[in-house]
Amino acid sequence: MSITPLNNLSRLCIHTITTRAWSIETAAHKYSAAGVAGITVWRQALDGTTPRAAASTLASAGLEVVSLARGGFFPAVTAGARQTAIEQNRRALEECEILGAPVLVLVCGAVPEQSIETDLGQIRDGIETLLPQAQAAGVRLAIEPLHPMYADTRSAIVKMKTANDLCAQIDSSWLGITVDCYHVWWDPDLESEIERAAAASRLLSFHICDWKTPPEDMLNDRGLMGEGVIDIRGIRGMMERNGFEGYNEVEIFSNRWWAGDQDFFLEEIVRAYRECS
Ligand code: ZN
Repeated sequence: MSITPLNNLSRLCIHTITTRAWSIETAAHKYSAAGVAGITVWRQALDGTTPRAAASTLASAGLEVVSLARGGFFPAVTAGARQTAIEQNRRALEECEILGAPVLVLVCGAVPEQSIETDLGQIRDGIETLLPQAQAAGVRLAIEPLHPMYADTRSAIVKMKTANDLCAQIDSSWLGITVDCYHVWWDPDLESEIERAAAASRLLSFHICDWKTPPEDMLNDRGLMGEGVIDIRGIRGMMERNGFEGYNEVEIFSNRWWAGDQDFFLEEIVRAYRECS
């Protein structure tokens, strides 16, 4: 079955972390000039400005705010630290409301000192605590499963199945899933779990980049689309066959690309988006 050709940029979104040297004002101006339609704002990009000023900048650039990244990091050894995490997530939801971001992406967290089961229980508690505020704000929470190499400190949720199971347990229309190619491309059950998420209206967002072989850094060596082994087009096809019509969000953490000229990087993102996504 064929998939939508990316002959225009109307579904291209870029995460501000991708060009992290740029202020949100610069990113807004440059993305817009390149024809990019959407932006996902990382909370760090709000340092030195206010959510209200950022919202106005993005609106005047004509960019759609696709989501805010990121909330989560719920597990912690002490109750006090877990409460601090909740407060940070509450602030993130307030920022979503001001920015007009319909989705808050959750990197759910993990703590090396405790078991995955304990982490998962604390993640569930954290999400359930936030859901009333999310609903009142009109913001959906999106669980992003992370690659298993991050199961020690970043996310106890590493598979789409675990995310779907948790969503099913909590059973709220304000909770769904972010599918990030980088994290889930290896999963033999990916297609069936995307189908399962779609059947419950849980497919909230889609992140793209590539997996270089080998990665030189566990965190900051993501590839531009086409530089690695991920069948991005195949995964996009799975999303689209299951009714996903949202943005293709380019999210690249890369010491290599960050060290170079960011205007050239943006040109390469647009080229790779058309050719390899
Ligand atoms: Zn992502």
